[in-house]
Parts: sequence; structure tokens; C-alpha cells
Amino acid sequence: MKILWNDRIVDRNECRIDPEDRGYQFGDGIYEVISFYNHQLFKLTEHMERLSYSAGEIAMDLPYSTEQIAENLKKLVELSDKADGQIYLQVTRGYAPRNHALPEKADPVLTAYLMHHPRPLDAQKTGVAAVTAEDVRWLRCDIKSLNLLGSILAKQKAVENGASETILHRGGTVTEGSSTNVFMVKNNTIYTHPINNLILNGITRRVVRDLAEKADIPFREEAFTTDDLMAADEVFLSSTIMEIMPVVRVDGQTIGTGRPGKVTKTLVQLFHEFVN
Ligand code: PMP
Repeated sequence: MKILWNDRIVDRNECRIDPEDRGYQFGDGIYEVISFYNHQLFKLTEHMERLSYSAGEIAMDLPYSTEQIAENLKKLVELSDKADGQIYLQVTRGYAPRNHALPEKADPVLTAYLMHHPRPLDAQKTGVAAVTAEDVRWLRCDIKSLNLLGSILAKQKAVENGASETILHRGGTVTEGSSTNVFMVKNNTIYTHPINNLILNGITRRVVRDLAEKADIPFREEAFTTDDLMAADEVFLSSTIMEIMPVVRVDGQTIGTGRPGKVTKTLVQLFHEFVN
């Protein structure tokens, strides 16, 4: 396996990370997951902008310009023997003697490599199940931070209940999924939580908004409750890996007809066309 290690592509066993790397000790770092389709990175500029935003919000300078990083990611994709896949990219604050306070000097460490999650085309036809849970994560979910314990524990609840995602809520207000943005459709209008510190500004969420506009489907960035969610005509998720995913059961209860709904199917179809 090849790894982009800072600005060099090396074999995995050549990549060395210090045990006192702050990413390893504190989760002090940021990441992105970027899809590529037919060897082309999808929404690369948007991912680089979000990486830059996350870095700024944790007071970390990226080790290279986003243009340089993007060029190196393209080189990594050229090495892929499969046409479709994803890149996992992370930047940690780097090595410093252990101390919570920010080090005066540390050299951020960038690593990136290819992943090959298959496209979720079959699941998109049937839809998936979700469960709900209180959102106990921190109040800066807009930062794509390596600190993912809240999301990990939430996702585990889904796995233990035979579901694909856990939909999070703060005191009954739906925020997002453990690794997805969440949408509901009521009377042919799409609702999703507004962009603020409580959710990640998903790149796929923006694609959903653009596709909805194209299809003349009203798109409202308004928070809704778990009661609204259960009574919705349709529910769906968006993420780089899940693309647009219909949800047909929540906490064991059927949503709408129990099959992917009209609006969601239209969006999935438009997404496929867009990617192709
Ligand atoms: N919310 C959270 C908490 C996530 O982890 C993700 C996926 N990284 C998303 C939303 C979806 O973001 P994107 O569409 O950029 O993959």
C-alpha cells in the first residue's frame, strides 16, 4: 500500500509516525474523505477549502498549500488500479513533548492513502435502517476533527441494532448522523439542519442542495424534531461514502411507505447522472 507522507509517496512500511505525535495522543488533527469516480477526484476544491477551514479553526497551519496537497492527491489516484474509490487524508499537529497547550513549534504531519469502499448502489435501491440517539458530541461539529469517539459510540449503537446509521438529536432536535447529514421530506419539501457549529458542512449535503434546486424541489435549512422525523414522508442521509441513502426504518418503525420515496429516488438518480 502506498502512502502520501507529507509530500512524498512511500510504501506503507516506510511511513514513520512519532508516538508523541499530537494526532496519536490527543486526536489533535483534522481529516477529509474524498471520493474519486473514473479516476477523477469529486469536489476536490470544496474538500480542500473545508480542510483549510478546519485547520484554521484549530489554529494549525497546513504544511503545504491546498493546491500542492491537491496535486499530490491526484498523483495518489493515478496509482489506483480501480477507477472508483476514496482518499483518506489527515493532517495532525505533529510531534511535540506531551502537553495539552499548543506547542510553540510543531511540524504538521500529512498522511493520505487510497480506500475502496464499494459504491452503495444496491442499498440505495432498498434503503437502510437507522436508529436515534442523543447527540453527546462536543459543540464544534463544524470542524472535521480526528476526535471521533462520540461518532464511534453512536455508530456502534447502529451496528448493535442491525442498522446502518445513528441519527443524532440534541434534546429532540435532529442534528446529523454519526457520519452523515440527515434530511427529511414532508409534503415534497426537503428539510435539513442549518449550517452551524452543531453539524459538519457536508460536501454531499451541498450537492443535495444543488440537485434539489435543479429539480425544483424546495430545500429548507430548518431544524426538525425526532417526532417530525418519525412522521416524515421520506428520510435520507448524505455523505461521501453513502452518497445519497434512503432511510426506510428508524428505531424499528417504518418511514413513509417503507420503500425509498419519490424525492429521494429523484435525488439519487440525479446524483448518479452528475457523477457519470
Ligand atoms: N456529518 C458527519 C459527522 C460526518 O462525519 C460526515 C462524513 N465525513 C458527514 C456529515 C458528511 O460529509 P461529506 O458529505 O462531506 O462526506
